[in-house]
Parts: sequence; structure tokens; C-alpha cells
Amino acid sequence: MTRSGWEVIIIRHGTRTGRKSEAYMNFSFYGEEDAPYTTDYFLWVLRRGSDVILIDTGFSRAGAEQRGRTVLVDPVEALSRIGITPEQAPPIVVTHAHYDHIGNLDRFPASTLHIAASEYEFWTSGIATRPLFSHFGDQAEVDDLRTAEREGRLVQFSGETEIEDGVKIIEVGGHTPGQSMVAVETEEGQVLLASDAAHFYEELDRDMPFVSMADVPESYRVLERIRDTNAAHVVTGHDPSTLERFPGYGDPLQGIAAILGRHG
Ligand SMILES: [Zn+2]
Repeated sequence: MTRSGWEVIIIRHGTRTGRKSEAYMNFSFYGEEDAPYTTDYFLWVLRRGSDVILIDTGFSRAGAEQRGRTVLVDPVEALSRIGITPEQAPPIVVTHAHYDHIGNLDRFPASTLHIAASEYEFWTSGIATRPLFSHFGDQAEVDDLRTAEREGRLVQFSGETEIEDGVKIIEVGGHTPGQSMVAVETEEGQVLLASDAAHFYEELDRDMPFVSMADVPESYRVLERIRDTNAAHVVTGHDPSTLERFPGYGDPLQGIAAILGRHG
């Protein structure tokens, strides 16, 4: 492997400030005061020369407004600022099928989508339409996955799969049945994109599962696994400190993006 590593771009496209008790499962069990708590929304881009892979596509404006989230930038518009367009049909990793991760898939009608088979199977099953799941999983957006499947653009995997050298998708479950993380090799070591296997650094550090978990025991195992990683950097799915933790991208994504493993 002589090719250089990938660049990882972290784009913040939305935000919401709610209560801590809305972010953590059974928060009252911890015996702490409730407090305001901010959740940020991200998508991630892997770039190596002209190769581009998207990790999720953020939420749609309708999906965000329906749930009271603030749209900071349209994900597709943010991508266009760095020269990435739907016409290029970049491959897309779907870490899980929640509305804030698959919201704009319909705008990438030619892209190949990579998803854990267990995730696709769950969201196309009857259980996914029950309120505890449908709050986060919009069937109109799940239809975009069905369309990709029908068109032969949906690549399903189980366990782990390396979709390009240095880009591995790891199915872990917990948060959703087929929640996946992405391990990316960069010039500054491995970057583990946890997506919602860990939403917040506090969730990881204090071993406090997020409010919505499909499998609670598995969620604890996944948090343990992430804490034990050898990766140089762990990027969680929704932490509002994310952009302060990593170097800023600068123009043309000033203030809304960070980058790891920057070339040159
Ligand atoms: Zn999420």
C-alpha cells in the first residue's frame, strides 16, 4: 500500500439545544440536575485525490423542521462548495437509517449505497413503523433505500467490509440493529468515525447510553469497544465540541467543518 492516506472532512450541518434528559436514557437514574444540552448534526467526507466517499448525507430540511432542528447549511450545498456534486455519484456509506443520516439520499440517485444487511432488513420490517422507531426512521426516506435496492445500487454487508483500501465499515449494532462505524486510514493514523455508536464524548467517557437504543446491553459493549480502540482519533456522531477538537477546514467551509489527515 503506497498510496497516501485519506482526508476526513467533518461537516456540521445542523444543531438543536434541548435538555440532557432528552439525550440520555433514563437520565433520572444518575441523580443529577437536568441541564440544557446541545446536539450538533454532521456528515463526513473521505477524500483522496479525486476519490470521494460520503459517510451519510445528513437530514433533509423537512425532516429537520418536523422535529424542531435548526438547519445551518444544506448538506448538498456544503458539498458543492468543495466540488462534490450528486452527478459525480460518490459512493455513500449509510452508518444507519435514521432521518438525520439518510435525509438527502434522494438527491444522489446514481450513488452506490453501502449498508449493513441487518440495518436494511430492520427498517424495511414492520417493527420499524412502531413509534419508538419511526420517530427517528422516516419510511419515505427508507423508500430511498428500497429504490437503491431495486436499482442494484444497494450493497449490503455483514460484520466488516473494506470498501476501498483504508476504508473499513464495521457493523456494531446497539443504537440501531445494524449501526456501523467507519475506520479510515489517514496520514495521522486511523480515524474512527463512530457515527451514532457514540453520539457524545460524555456518552463514551461516562458510559451513559443515548436515549434511543435498540439493544442496551450491546450499546454498553460498543462503548467499551470504542474506548478500547487503537485509533488515533475518535469522532462521535453529534458532539457540539467536535469542531473545536480538530483542525478547522477553513474556506470555503469556514466555521462549519474540520479536517483530519489533510494533504500538503
Ligand atoms: Zn444521528
